[in-house]
Amino acid sequence: MQAVSQKMETPEKGSFWLPNAFFFALIHLGALLGGIYLSPPSTLCKQTIILTILCWQLPCFGITIGYHRLWSHKAFRAVKPVRFVLAIFGTMAFQGSIKWWVLRHRLHHRFTDDPVHDPYAATRGLFFSHMGWIFRKPTYTKLPLIEKDDLDRDPIVRFQHKYYVPLALFTGLVLPTMIAATWGDAMGGYIWGGLVGRVLVWHCTFLVNSLAHWEGLQPYTDEITARGNLIMAMLTCGEGNHNFHAFPHDFRAGPNILDWDPSKWIITMLYRLGLATGLRKAHPEDIKAAQAWILSHHHEPFPASANDEAETDSAESTDEVVLAKWSLNELNKQAKQRGCLLVIDGFVVDASSYVGDHPGGSVFLRRYAVPKEGARTSEEWRKATWAFQGGMNVHSRIAKRRMMSMRVAELME
Ligand SMILES: [Zn+2]
Ligand SMILES: [Zn+2]
Repeated sequence: MQAVSQKMETPEKGSFWLPNAFFFALIHLGALLGGIYLSPPSTLCKQTIILTILCWQLPCFGITIGYHRLWSHKAFRAVKPVRFVLAIFGTMAFQGSIKWWVLRHRLHHRFTDDPVHDPYAATRGLFFSHMGWIFRKPTYTKLPLIEKDDLDRDPIVRFQHKYYVPLALFTGLVLPTMIAATWGDAMGGYIWGGLVGRVLVWHCTFLVNSLAHWEGLQPYTDEITARGNLIMAMLTCGEGNHNFHAFPHDFRAGPNILDWDPSKWIITMLYRLGLATGLRKAHPEDIKAAQAWILSHHHEPFPASANDEAETDSAESTDEVVLAKWSLNELNKQAKQRGCLLVIDGFVVDASSYVGDHPGGSVFLRRYAVPKEGARTSEEWRKATWAFQGGMNVHSRIAKRRMMSMRVAELME
């Protein structure tokens, strides 16, 4: 839990979000009373049962494929009609607009488990990470650091954000009622398709933030609380294979054929139909290295601090490599010729071929890169170490390993 050991700040509670809490309680109460009134579900007509399952599962996929893998992590690209459908399904989930959701999720990945900066840090308890966090409105001080230009550029995201409340009420409650009215069961459509469906979608998604950070296996990383669990994966359209957290830009929640991940199967199908492109995958060697580390270190105590760990990894991976020593002049010369040079921890890292692969996007790599006009024209590149070591993102062991594999020289000033 490196994030926790690095920070000594106490989390800001934030003001109570009364309208949200009231709405949340009201939907639960309606679902409970309505569910009792129209029970048991076996007495419902077949169409209403199918409608309920669709009104539960389609929004879940809208969240996992759309909100999560497409918009939060840019794990693939999709044609406009697919983005539109995913946005509508996601809207039905009653989890806020794409923009609202994605910004918080990006914070969660950057500062996973950090009680201050992770909006739903599992380290603050099971209830908090499941739903406690949505009742408060703290100021997320790191939120302005999160990339949002891609969201602002997407007209579907802008439209959905602007009209979110009426769109959500219509798609989540009115639409199931209207559809079921066509076979004479408007009440069944409202209660089961609408209210009960919303409660099911909520808690299935919330499980990813709570139980999937609590119970299960850790085949890829033990640095964070995220875990993998088959039952959870089945309840969450695949997201319960949550230990793959370390590779958020991958369109899969698990690289193995046996990993239960219907979201991955649907994205693959969209790709085959020509409706999705640019499916991103983590480097197989990074996945293997992550698994190998877990297997070989599983009985060792976790490194006392992120620095200890970086030093250990550094010693392991750079032992045999003798790096050139560059002066500031040489750095300037090389920066002109290469795509993206960063100076991290006194070492020059050539990230030119990695810019497109960076899970956090290319914008931040470029922001802290040595300027082509020369290192003296800006001081921003000197903040790269701060940004890499937790300022902008708490990087995983495997990200540190990849960064160190791209070192090309030591900077001598
Ligand atoms: Zn997570
Ligand atoms: Zn994610």
